[in-house]
Amino acid sequence: MARVTLDTLRKEFDRGTIVAVDDLDLEIDDGEFVTVVGPSGCGKTTTLRMVAGLEEPTSGTVHFDDEDVTEIHAKERPVAMVFQNYALYPHKTVRENMAFGLKMSTDMTKEERHERVREMAEMMGIADLLDDKPDELSGGQKQRVALGRAIAREPEVFLFDEPLSNLDAKLRTEMRAEIQKLQKEFGVTAMYVTHDQEEAMTMGDRLAILNDGKLQQVGAPTEVYQNPVNEFVAGFIGSPSMNFLDVDVETDGTTATIRDESSGLALSLSREYVAGHDIESGPYTLGIRPENIEIIEEPTGGETLTSTVEVVEPIGSDNYVHLDVNEDFLARSPADVQPEAGDEVGVTFAEENLHLFDAETGEDV
Ligand code: ADP
Ligand code: MG
Repeated sequence: MARVTLDTLRKEFDRGTIVAVDDLDLEIDDGEFVTVVGPSGCGKTTTLRMVAGLEEPTSGTVHFDDEDVTEIHAKERPVAMVFQNYALYPHKTVRENMAFGLKMSTDMTKEERHERVREMAEMMGIADLLDDKPDELSGGQKQRVALGRAIAREPEVFLFDEPLSNLDAKLRTEMRAEIQKLQKEFGVTAMYVTHDQEEAMTMGDRLAILNDGKLQQVGAPTEVYQNPVNEFVAGFIGSPSMNFLDVDVETDGTTATIRDESSGLALSLSREYVAGHDIESGPYTLGIRPENIEIIEEPTGGETLTSTVEVVEPIGSDNYVHLDVNEDFLARSPADVQPEAGDEVGVTFAEENLHLFDAETGEDV
C-alpha cells in the first residue's frame, strides 16, 4: 500500500481567478483513513481529483510513497474512486460493472476476473444481485456495487467523494461502518471527502479541515474538537455548533477579566489560565460549546451571566435550551434541567472549556 503526500498542491481555474486548492500540504500514512471535510466549494473534490490523476495541478506535487505521480495518468495510478452518484454503467449487469474495472486495469484472465467479482460480491452481500441491472437496485445496493467494484481492483489508495450523500440516514450510518471495516480489512490508504462534520468525526483516523481552498487543521477528531486552531474550525466541527460571543478582555499579565456589556457576561480567569495563554487586553471572540454550558434554574447572581430562556427543545436524553444571549445561543442540558420559555436562568461554564479567538484573525490564543 502507499503513503500519499501532497506538497504545496495548488489548482487554479479560469486563469487564476479561482483558486480551488491553495498550496495544500497533507500526508496520509500507509493504511491511514483521512477524512477531508469542509463546506461546499472549499476544494475537496478538486483535491481528490488531483490525487486520482483526473485533474492536473497548477503547481505542487503528489507522491505515492517516494514516487512522484504528479505527471502519471489516472489509469496508471493504483487508485480507486467511489462517488456519490455511484457511476455505474446502466446497461451492464452488476457482474459486468464489477468486472469492468478489472478489465481496464489488470491482466487477469476472464475466469480470474469472474472469480474475483464473485468473491467481492459475497463479501459485500450482493452475490444474489450479480445478474441485475443498476436500475433494479436500491441506493444502498448500488453503493455496495460501487464499493465492491472499487475494492476488486485492489487499489493502494481508496478515494471517496461524498459516497453516502444520496442515502437515507439509517443506511448512511450502516455504510459508514461498512466502509471503515472494508478499509481496515484491506489495509488500504483512504482519503474520504465529505461536507458533513458528523460523518467526518465518526469516520477518520484523522480529519483535514479545508476552508476556501486552504488547509485549516489536521488532527484526530477529538483533538480537533477539543483544540480547534481557529474560529472557523471551532464553528464547523461539533454539533450543535459552538456559541460565539464578542467580548472585551482586560489583563495585567497575571489576572484577566472577560466582559460583554450587551449580555452582561463577566468572568475572571485564573492565573494559571492567563499564564498558559497568550492574552492581551482588547477584543476577542469567546467560544463555548452547548454541551459545556450549565444552566442554573434558580440563579444566585454568582453565575457567568444570566439570560432569558427562549425555547426548550427536548431531544430525549437532553434538552436544547435556546437563550437570549445573542441571536443564536444554545445550551445542551440534561433532561432533568427543565426551564421554561421566559424563565430567567443563570449560565455558567468551566474556564477549561472556553475558547478565546483573536477578534481580527480568528486564531485561537
Ligand atoms: P467541493 O468539492 O469542496 O465542493 P470543488 O473542489 O468542487 O469544491 O470546487 C472548488 C472551487 O473550484 C469552487 O469554487 C468551484 O466552483 C471551482 N471549480 C471546480 N471545478 C471547476 C472547473 N472545472 N472550472 C472552474 N471552476 C471550478
Ligand atoms: Mg465536491
